[in-house]
Amino acid sequence: MPQLPDPDFLASLADTEFIYQNSPSGYLSILPDGTIIRLNRTLLNWLGYQEEEILYQKKFGDVLCKGGAIHYEMFFRPMITVNGNIREFNYEILRKDGTSFPALINGEGVYDKSGNLRAVTLVIMDITQRNLYEKELLKAKEQAKSEKERFENLAETLPEMIWTINSEGQLTYYNQMTLKYFGLTNKTLSTALIFSRIYSSDKIKLLRKWMLKDHEQKEFTVVLRLLNASLSYEWFRVNVIVPEKHTNDMRWFGTCNSINEHIKAMKRKDEFINMASHELKTPVTVLQSYLQLMQLYPVPDPVKEFVDKSLHTLKKFQFLISSLLNVAVINTGELTLNLSVFSLNNLLEFTIDQLRHTTSTHQLILTMEAKQIFVKADMERISQVVTNIVSNAIKYSPAASSVEIKFSFNAETSKAQVRIIDFGVGITPEDMNKIFDRYYRVEIEKNKPGLGLGLYISQNILLAHASRLTVESEIGKGTTFCFSLPEYRQ
Ligand code: ADP
Repeated sequence: MPQLPDPDFLASLADTEFIYQNSPSGYLSILPDGTIIRLNRTLLNWLGYQEEEILYQKKFGDVLCKGGAIHYEMFFRPMITVNGNIREFNYEILRKDGTSFPALINGEGVYDKSGNLRAVTLVIMDITQRNLYEKELLKAKEQAKSEKERFENLAETLPEMIWTINSEGQLTYYNQMTLKYFGLTNKTLSTALIFSRIYSSDKIKLLRKWMLKDHEQKEFTVVLRLLNASLSYEWFRVNVIVPEKHTNDMRWFGTCNSINEHIKAMKRKDEFINMASHELKTPVTVLQSYLQLMQLYPVPDPVKEFVDKSLHTLKKFQFLISSLLNVAVINTGELTLNLSVFSLNNLLEFTIDQLRHTTSTHQLILTMEAKQIFVKADMERISQVVTNIVSNAIKYSPAASSVEIKFSFNAETSKAQVRIIDFGVGITPEDMNKIFDRYYRVEIEKNKPGLGLGLYISQNILLAHASRLTVESEIGKGTTFCFSLPEYRQ
């Protein structure tokens, strides 16, 4: 155990004069009339004077800026006389070179035995840094306030409902449009109330997406129905921006765009397509039968050629009608599959061969990287999917000369995979989310023929097979569509 040091030795270490001179605060003693009679080295350095220039030469008022000097006369002196001390007075201290710095001052009166004020001792703290922090903080607060005001002003001018929700699920902001739509007042609007206004089966859709929020998604969109002030449902596209994890601002920001008119227009289109496709089917079939009958009769060569050409055109027309009929059955949830076991290799070869007759501009390169794979699926509909995607690949790559179709097999998953690769215009990430919607067509490609149904039908056919069409694309480079089917083993 080390020997305890001598108490006198310890006491000798507390050199009060040293502490006084080198303290990070300034010390100053003045007479009741303000004459400076003592100050430490720190303050002397701050002020920039030599000791002889200031001691008994200057009064405290001389080292204060103008406003400070008046304040000293009017408040400081009377306060010391009455209270005996002052606490946290804020002065601007004047240096010899005319510059100044903000300081916080505490003072204590020194009295003689009869209670007369002999002197005042002051502790002076330089608060330049603190003031800077305070100013920055104030600026940041004001900026945040004006950003908030700007956001709220903007939000009030928009036709959408806009709101924010905090991590406890409370509404922290909503615009007037939100109140107006629900026919509510500031007092009654709450997250729970809005939730109660969502169409019951749409609530699950929203909750599913909401629950996924922890899985790194930055935003999500859900289409749902909301009960309005007149108690009827309207369609909305709700877009929610999820806050980044671990940020201070854990608010969910949401907008509700009315898509009621759009949904109504879609319904009108669906109804028209249902009706038109059924009405067209019968006469086209009759026409086809007559033309096929004509092929059996000996007719002059030019007539035979006309009949063949008519039948060929009719085939395209039938494909179109069958697409429309497909949409009708998908919309009503009546898509049924005619399952059989067949070789996917053979189906691909046959379908691609057929498609080769439809293009003189593109070479269709089919690569089989797998043995014969049998699948249990709807042969006609899988062929339809391949036809749709390869036709698109040709249509949306006008400057290219080939489309590649690759067939492979993954032994680990026992799945056969079909990839259709083009070197065309590509699809933007934004459009990639929408191309599988029915009637959706990319704006700049609308000059090309099409109804915006091919991908919708293809996706639904694959979904019915418990599969899914996926897409990867790069603008100007090309697009790859891909789907898989499980191998059928007895
Ligand atoms: P359609 O081709 O009749 O417009 P689809 O449903 O087949 O309808 O496709 C929807 C949209 O997706 C198309 O309008 C097109 O803009 C885009 N698209 C589809 N396939 C491709 C592709 N291979 N390359 C670029 N864009 C494509």
